[in-house]
Amino acid sequence: MKQPALIGFCYDENSSFLRGAAEAPPLIRCAFRSESSNLWSETGIDLGKRDTYFDAGDVVSSDGKDIFPTIEHSIAQLLDRDFRPISLGGDHSITYPIMRAMSRRHADLSILQIDAHPDLYDEFQGNKYSHASPFARIMEEKLVRHLIQVGIRTITGHQRAQADRFGVQVYEMKDWRDDLALEFDTPVYITVDVDGLDPSCAPGVSHPEPGGLSTRQVIDVIHRVNQPIVGADIVEYNPRRDLNSLTAAVCAKLLKEILAHMLEN
Ligand code: MN
Ligand code: MN
Repeated sequence: MKQPALIGFCYDENSSFLRGAAEAPPLIRCAFRSESSNLWSETGIDLGKRDTYFDAGDVVSSDGKDIFPTIEHSIAQLLDRDFRPISLGGDHSITYPIMRAMSRRHADLSILQIDAHPDLYDEFQGNKYSHASPFARIMEEKLVRHLIQVGIRTITGHQRAQADRFGVQVYEMKDWRDDLALEFDTPVYITVDVDGLDPSCAPGVSHPEPGGLSTRQVIDVIHRVNQPIVGADIVEYNPRRDLNSLTAAVCAKLLKEILAHMLEN
């Protein structure tokens, strides 16, 4: 069993609308350890026990610096040490360099993306590395076998064409069913863009999009993943937009359930 490792990427320079996601990682850790709850997962794993996971700390970028090589290298180092990396963002652009490292270790991988947005723009506002484009880069470079998107409710004509071109499985929110069964035939990487949740559950995001998933529905999706989760990220939490640290608590809750799934499978 490979141990999970947390790493934070304090970076939001590829955000198209609001900054602030760079401030998220320490606040998610703080909510994770908060005495308002405990460190048991719903599935019965005690994450407070010694050595259940490793914490590699945070990577902080200086303004204007290209952080992608550092992200890719940091994840590669964790994989070389046999960890399963869980990254705390940061905006969603970080998933592209993460997957470059993941794909070298795992030839066959499926991404489960929870998001209001497909993030498949060929470029956004002239930026190929925008947080609206990581999955265009990932699919162009064939870094994974399957991309499965859940919670989508902002798809445009261009992004629908991109999804068709790359063979993305898009489960749009308008077609949501609580008994939706996602079947995976490879190890899974989970990327949780917190705006996939409804803004009533997770208000602290840069792009609140009504009509999304409840916290309960996202937890159920994670619990039902039928393959090992070999890596994950939780991105787009924007503390500047949060109310009573509610979204930090949601991120911490999802982190617990993902950590526990890794430890069980
Ligand atoms: Mn999004
Ligand atoms: Mn996203």
